[in-house]
Amino acid sequence: MEKTSLPVAVIGAGPVGLAAAAHLLERGLEPLVFEAGPTAGAAIEEWRHIRLFSPWRFNIDAAAVRLLEASGWEAPRPTALPYGGELIDNYLAPLAALPALASRLETGARVLAVTRQGMDKTHVRNRDTTPFIVRVLHSDGETRDHTVAAVIDASGTWSTRNPLGTSGLPAIGEEAAAARISSPLPDVAGRDREAFAGKRVLVVGAGHSAANTLLNLAALAKEAPETRILWAIRGASPSKTYGGGDADGLPARGQLGARLRRLVEAGKIELHTGFGISSFKSLDSGVTVGAVDGRTLEADVVVPCTGFRPDLDMLRELRLNLDPAVEAPMELGPLIDPEFHSCGTVPPHGARLLAHPDKDFYIVGMKSYGRAPTFLLATGYEQVRSVAAALAGDREAADTVQLELPETGVCSTDAGTSCDVPATRPAAGAGEAGGESGCCAAPEPVLVAFPPAWPTAAPPTTDT
Ligand SMILES: Cc1cc2nc3c(=O)[nH]c(=O)nc-3n(C[C@H](O)[C@H](O)[C@H](O)COP(=O)(O)OP(=O)(O)OC[C@H]3O[C@@H](n4cnc5c(N)ncnc54)[C@H](O)[C@@H]3O)c2cc1C
Repeated sequence: MEKTSLPVAVIGAGPVGLAAAAHLLERGLEPLVFEAGPTAGAAIEEWRHIRLFSPWRFNIDAAAVRLLEASGWEAPRPTALPYGGELIDNYLAPLAALPALASRLETGARVLAVTRQGMDKTHVRNRDTTPFIVRVLHSDGETRDHTVAAVIDASGTWSTRNPLGTSGLPAIGEEAAAARISSPLPDVAGRDREAFAGKRVLVVGAGHSAANTLLNLAALAKEAPETRILWAIRGASPSKTYGGGDADGLPARGQLGARLRRLVEAGKIELHTGFGISSFKSLDSGVTVGAVDGRTLEADVVVPCTGFRPDLDMLRELRLNLDPAVEAPMELGPLIDPEFHSCGTVPPHGARLLAHPDKDFYIVGMKSYGRAPTFLLATGYEQVRSVAAALAGDREAADTVQLELPETGVCSTDAGTSCDVPATRPAAGAGEAGGESGCCAAPEPVLVAFPPAWPTAAPPTTDT
């Protein structure tokens, strides 16, 4: 079969994968979308209780909107800030249900590996013109190989959180204690309440998701007073998480941090600083979490707010060019490295910057940022517009990157994590941790340094 008549595989039906499919269709190319989860937006489904910090206007893709509008869809108010659940219900689900996409989307289809047909990574001859093989575990339990002309990996990073152990490795016993470790952003005061009410909960991490989880746990503890909240951070001080309090130049950060500080000072949250985790010991009654310096903490459940990393295993047979630190495409890495960019200024970029030695293979979306936490959907939408143009042979359009992004992105104190999230949906009966005036009760946008022309539902603030 001619390589050009083959479809283009898209891995993942998150917002960026679906946008990629929409752009490919506009370009006359045939997308074949494999989604591991049961529905489009499966990763966001797990944080549907979290409010996005960017307004609708920047959360929807232009080609996807063109498809949707042709079916009578009405765009949400552009300045409103949706919850993750609303992003799915009002945008991703209707998009995935359009016949043009539904017929090209397979859910319950997990991509296991990508390679070139008939050659491993070491073979170079005719490599560029040889189709790719995408190996997929389908929902019927069968594993099948699919031959495609190109591959766009939009599989995100949600399923590969960073380990809790120090040194980038799981702590000894961490895997065996998996039943005691929650998802990275549990809805502690809502959907997942039962797993947390009245329990000893250890939150690990110093970013915004840790802060928000702690505040919601404090709200939960008001209703279920036996709930004990422990907080372990690797650093010597939580000052970065607290921000500048009332004097903080970024009000939402200051407010969130001030509330957290008050709870810690009041003894409602038990803070353990300098707690680099070295071991987990599972017991019938819970788990003992050991620190490098010999201290131990007992918990029933541990919430890992330690960020995410890309799954590169399935790309092992491809020739990639990744930044050695961030694991983003080589040229993108230095632009987003959280060690140097707490408020990353990310120039617009497209196919050229995202290219790898294996021609016609691209990593896009959240995964394209590797371990860096500052990815924005609008960035991903421009990436896939450019990639689709490149795959269609329209080099000029591919190279004309027109990112309508702020010069500065999302700020983060969570170097190396993706846990920088805004406030969660208010907990019922939220008081100190989730009262009317706090971030948990009235989530605010946490965009930073958007140009004044950008409409936001509230004054721009930052996500530390
Ligand atoms: C809590 C939170 C809040 C955020 N808020 C914002 C915000 O306000 N504004 C903003 O611009 N960005 C925000 N982001 C960052 C980012 O835009 C989102 O993470 C977004 O979901 C990334 O989209 P994506 O399509 O790249 O990846 P995902 O949404 O993670 O989608 C990837 C898809 O691939 C599937 N998949 C994974 N592995 C495989 C496989 N092997 N085979 C097949 N399918 C697979 C997954 O099931 C998933 O459906 C936020 C992130 C988080 C975690």
